[in-house]
This record gives sequence, C-alpha cells and structure tokens, in this order.
Amino acid sequence: MTEFDYDFFVIGGGSGGVRAARVAASLGKRVGIAEEYRYGGTCVIRGCVPKKLFVYASHFSEEFEDAAGFGWRVGESHFDWQTLIANKDREVARLEGLYRKGLSNAGAEIFDSRAELVDEHRIRIISSNQIVTADKILIAVGGRVNSVDKLEGQELTISSNEAFHLENLPKSILIAGGGYIAVEFANIFHGLGVETTLIYRGPEILKNFDMDLRRTLHRTMEEKGIRILCHEVITKVVRSADARLDVTTSGGKNLKVDQVMMALGRIPNTSGLGLENAGVGTNENGAVVVDDYMRTNVENIFAVGDVTDRIQLTPVAIHEAMCVVETLFKDNPTKADHEMIATAVFSQPEIGTVGLSEDAAARKYDELEVYSATFRPMRHTLSGRQEKMITKLVVNAADRRVVGAHILGPDAGEMAQLLAIALKAGCTKDDFDRTMAVHPTAAEELVTMYQPSFRVKDGVRVE
Ligand SMILES: Cc1cc2nc3c(=O)[nH]c(=O)nc-3n(C[C@H](O)[C@H](O)[C@H](O)COP(=O)(O)OP(=O)(O)OC[C@H]3O[C@@H](n4cnc5c(N)ncnc54)[C@H](O)[C@@H]3O)c2cc1C
Repeated sequence: MTEFDYDFFVIGGGSGGVRAARVAASLGKRVGIAEEYRYGGTCVIRGCVPKKLFVYASHFSEEFEDAAGFGWRVGESHFDWQTLIANKDREVARLEGLYRKGLSNAGAEIFDSRAELVDEHRIRIISSNQIVTADKILIAVGGRVNSVDKLEGQELTISSNEAFHLENLPKSILIAGGGYIAVEFANIFHGLGVETTLIYRGPEILKNFDMDLRRTLHRTMEEKGIRILCHEVITKVVRSADARLDVTTSGGKNLKVDQVMMALGRIPNTSGLGLENAGVGTNENGAVVVDDYMRTNVENIFAVGDVTDRIQLTPVAIHEAMCVVETLFKDNPTKADHEMIATAVFSQPEIGTVGLSEDAAARKYDELEVYSATFRPMRHTLSGRQEKMITKLVVNAADRRVVGAHILGPDAGEMAQLLAIALKAGCTKDDFDRTMAVHPTAAEELVTMYQPSFRVKDGVRVE
C-alpha cells in the first residue's frame, strides 16, 4: 500500500475546511491543512462575523431615537468609525487565533500558504514549493467576489472585502446588488449615517425570499431614507475633479457619491487550483461538481461549501464537512441534508425565514393555506416608530404541514432558528395551534393565527 504523508489534506481554512480538518485530526488521522489568507475564512475574517458586528453598530442610531418615547433623553451622540474598525479587527483576530488553536490542539499540521493540486494525491504548498501527498483530499476553497470586468471604472469600486477596512466612513455610498449582502450593507451604512442608495437590475430586492417580506422591507428601507433603484444597473464610474465618484446608470441617472460598493454575488474560488491536473470536474460556473456525499468525480477527492456553489452559508459548509468526516473516517456514509435550511437577512427590520416562500410552495403544492399577520410590534407603540412586523406561515392544505415560515421584524433571525426545528420535525399547523403562546412577545403571533388569511389554489390567491 502506498504510504502518504497525510491521511487527509484540506485546501482552504474557512468554515468547512477547518471543521473537517479539526474533527478528522481529533479522530487520530494525520491531517494537513493549507490556508492562503487567514484561518477562519470568509465567515470569520470578512463575512458573517464582522458583518454582524457592523449590524449591531448600525442599530444604535434607531435605538437612541426610540429611547425618547420611553422617557430617556439621550445626549448628542457621535459615531467613530475607526473605533468600530479597531474593535472589530481585534475580535476577528481573537477568533482566528481560536481556529488555529483548535486545529493544532487536535493535531492537524497547519500551512500558512496557498496550495494547489498536482495530481489526485499530490498537493503543492506554494510558499515553500514543497509537494506533499495525501490519501484523501478535501477542497474547501470557498468563493470570491464576482466582479464585473466590463464595467468602466470597476477599479474605482469596492466589494464587501474592502468595506470592512475603509479608512474613513464615506458620506454617501451606492451599493450595487439585490442579494442579502447588498441589502445588509445598505442598512449598515444607512444606520451609521451614510447617505445610501441601492441599485439592482431585478424587479425586487432579495430574489427567492417571500414576496410579502421583500416588498415590505423595500418600502420600510425607503421610508427610513435608503434610496432603492430597481431595474437599473451601473454603466460607468468616473473619478470627478472633487475626488468623488460620478456614476452613470442604465436608466440615464447621474449620481455623485463617495463610494461605490459592488455586491453582485460570489463565484467559486477554483481558478489556478490545479483541478485539471487531478481530473476534478467543474460546472460552467467553475464550481466543483460533487455527489450527495460531497465526492467529486475523482474517488479520493471531496469538496464542501461555497466552492460547490449550492447553498452559500456557513452552517451548510460546516454540515457538509461533518458529513465528509462521517463518510471517510467513521465508516458511516452520510449525505448532506439541504432540506429546510433557516436563514436570515440582517436588514432593519430583519428577515428570518425557513422553508418555502409562498410562490415556491404554490409551484410545488396544489393548494396552500397562508396565515399572515402584519402588526406594529409592542415596542413601537411607545417608540412611535411606524415600522410593521410580518409573521407568515405557508401550509400545504393537503396534509396541514407547515412548509414555510417567514418573519420580518426585530430578532427574526433568532426566531427562524427555533422555527427551523419545528419545520424540520414536520410540524403541522395543528401543532402550532396547540402550542401555548409566550405573552407578550412578537413571536406569539406565530401560534395565534387561527384562520387562514387566504388560500392559494393552482398558484392563484383566493379568499
Ligand atoms: C459579506 C458576507 C457576509 C456573509 N454573511 C453570512 C451570514 O450572515 N450567514 C452565513 O451563514 N453565511 C454568510 N456568508 C457566507 C459564508 O461566509 C460562506 O458561506 C462560508 O464562509 C463558506 O465556507 P467555505 O468553507 O466554503 O469557504 P470560506 O469560508 O470562504 O473559506 C475558504 C478559504 O479557502 C482559502 N483558499 C482559497 N483558495 C485557496 C488555496 N488554493 N489554497 C489555500 N487556501 C485557499 C480562502 O482564503 C478562504 O479562507 C457571508 C459571506 C460574505 C462575503
């Protein structure tokens, strides 16, 4: 039998890669892992974590305003961007340290280097030009920002990567994109006092989320002062004489802003990885093609997370990594389960969602019952804020199973996590009806919507 340097070599030290390497090493396997930038990957270094810290920071402006209705007089407030960046950087560095420590404590060998495939068992460590061999290989290189090469002035724009390190907070920003990253950053910058415009080529922000929530969030963001331009894209960005940016749009608008941020999705990080040397197949987007067990077309090479371009979320990458470890090292072949994945958009107000949107459910089931409540959260009776909250359950009429649950409002992400357990367990609307409310909460609406708001038959809403 060939003796390899490692039982398992992981390329990419992000959410999926670190988890797989750490757990495999803790099982006594000889594990190597290479990361070209910083351990923790997108989520920890320039994704979920720093973003959520920014989201918290951006909430305070409304908190200060809302306090007045409860009798508080808050003195003049001042926001300091440099303090936020420094504190965020410290926290990210702390987490990165924990990731490294977890790997080394488990016995994995850490390479601070880019790695590329030489063939199906050999990997080149680029920093030292060393070649190592491994029995099994995991590709966990994630994704990278999708840039628009054709855009004139592309080099003057930033992506979310740079947004985490801007030297100064811009006075105004134009964000291109309609996905959750674009929407979240629009809310972050607006909350921090930046004049914010969102531009999106589609008809409505947040494609694939429930339409009622998309429309209401859109309206609420506009009411707060965020300008949203749909059906429109940026066609040109030019540096103007006053060092600002002149932006031309496909709708013939000319905007002058301090910063332009492109958030047009993320693409698999596979170029230059040597996949062709090992014979690993990719699809037309460059994503590594895998089967239900995350195995590529090459028997000993697996891939997890964003590089497979299926569901680009941290918990999904981690789950897939755990499945690979079960399959390879615990003699327990395990498929990834991508059903009923809860997710959140950390906008203001927030979206929390699990299961099918009304439109997606209508395509799948003949008849739906939809239970929906739109109300003003109790807190806003005194804060005076006019913002509305939505709770919505989509039920398959045939068996009463709740196939989708959607919330727009404070803490919606937290609620979605708990709802996901109920929906994953296959709860019916009768289970929701039998459940006692927690009073007074906003979440109690989820168990007190007794009558359907409407039905959907053959894709059409009926009373
Ligand atoms: C702004 C932003 C906000 C996000 N917010 C959320 C959120 O709120 N919730 C959520 O669930 N998800 C969020 N995500 C998505 C989440 O970050 C990803 O889905 C997740 O990180 C994917 O994990 P991964 O292991 O596949 O890849 P990554 O975490 O991207 O890790 C891949 C790693 O591989 C390294 N690498 C690449 N090529 C090589 C190579 N050849 N050699 C060595 N190393 C290499 C990269 O440097 C990177 O560190 C967000 C993403 C972004 C960009």
